[in-house]
Amino acid sequence: MSEKSTILRPKGRRIILILSGAALALLLAGLFIWQFVHREREYTLDTFAMGSYVRQTLWGREPEEAAAETVQRIEELEREISWRRDGDIAKMNAQAGGEPVTVEDTGELLAELLELSERSGGALDITLGPVTRLWDFDGEPHLPDPEELEKALALVDYRKLSMDSEEYWYAVPIEDGSHLDCIGTKYHVSLKEPGMALDLGAVGKGAACDEAAETIYREGISGMVASVGGSVCLRGQKPDGGPFRVSVRDPKGDPAESLGVLELDGGYISTSGSYEKYFEQDGKRYHHILDPRTGCPAESGLLSVTVWCPPGLDCKYPGALSDGLATACFVLGLEDGRKLLESYGAEGIFIGEDGELTVTEGLKGRFTPREDG
Ligand code: ADP
Ligand code: MG
Repeated sequence: MSEKSTILRPKGRRIILILSGAALALLLAGLFIWQFVHREREYTLDTFAMGSYVRQTLWGREPEEAAAETVQRIEELEREISWRRDGDIAKMNAQAGGEPVTVEDTGELLAELLELSERSGGALDITLGPVTRLWDFDGEPHLPDPEELEKALALVDYRKLSMDSEEYWYAVPIEDGSHLDCIGTKYHVSLKEPGMALDLGAVGKGAACDEAAETIYREGISGMVASVGGSVCLRGQKPDGGPFRVSVRDPKGDPAESLGVLELDGGYISTSGSYEKYFEQDGKRYHHILDPRTGCPAESGLLSVTVWCPPGLDCKYPGALSDGLATACFVLGLEDGRKLLESYGAEGIFIGEDGELTVTEGLKGRFTPREDG
């Protein structure tokens, strides 16, 4: 018995060794594959929406799925807020002067924009639709007929946008079979006169950044940057823990030229400039940021305004706010624009037609002008 076992022992040990070696190799291979799939990595996706390039850079696990979901969310937002599509805003325009349209998310966004329209004294007016359609900057830009412009201007007034809200309870089922009681808000929105029309073109790209920003709440995503045209959102952390760097375009140079770099730890940035869309007629240049008082391109002595809404501002749509503020400040000019930013706790960089650069207090340590600038 003992002789037999001494003969078998080395062979048995070898089998056990081989088996455990194979198991270890399998385990290591599995671990490697698991780590490869689940490791933190950087992923960039370029798409196109709202007439602009959209670039998302995400850090974390499974970033491809998160980026694809954002593309879908921006597409849904565009459908709801573009007057050219068939969503909430298009319905409100179609029913101007008639029955209210009942909405939820779009109503919440409109409430915030209505407040900005008020606080900017109408420099941003989300009912500018009849006038922006005449100029047709996204189609065939041209000087409108003065009589038509006058008629269209008479239909522009954010105070004639009526919004009633109503709260309601709804149940959300949870895992243990019970449910949570939640409260929601419905908005009944109407434009008081026929022919009135909403145009959210001034805030659409910033609102898209608000959608993109939701990605940060996905499990495994640790940081992100998303840019939609002239609006950018910065959330979470970069892997190196350093600040995000955002280049500010030189309004006098070509699109790639930078005036300087902002170093920020988060928030939302939007730029509005007269160089973005314009046409020339009889030697005069007409750009797409309009003064709602005149219905014509704003002449406030500025070439561009960049607005930063820092993290932690008390508002639901900081991206849309930064975008709307940039447009409003462009119309208001340096002094009034600055006051408006202050009242919101936002910061900005104003570039005058004379090339003068004004950086508000809260951005001073965060903006580095280009050296030869
Ligand atoms: P962009 O759309 O090029 O990023 P803006 O954010 O400044 O630029 O928005 C400009 C668009 O907003 C215009 O094309 C027009 O549809 C609309 N718009 C222009 N001026 C105003 C204004 N004063 N108030 C509200 N909307 C405006
Ligand atoms: Mg804007």
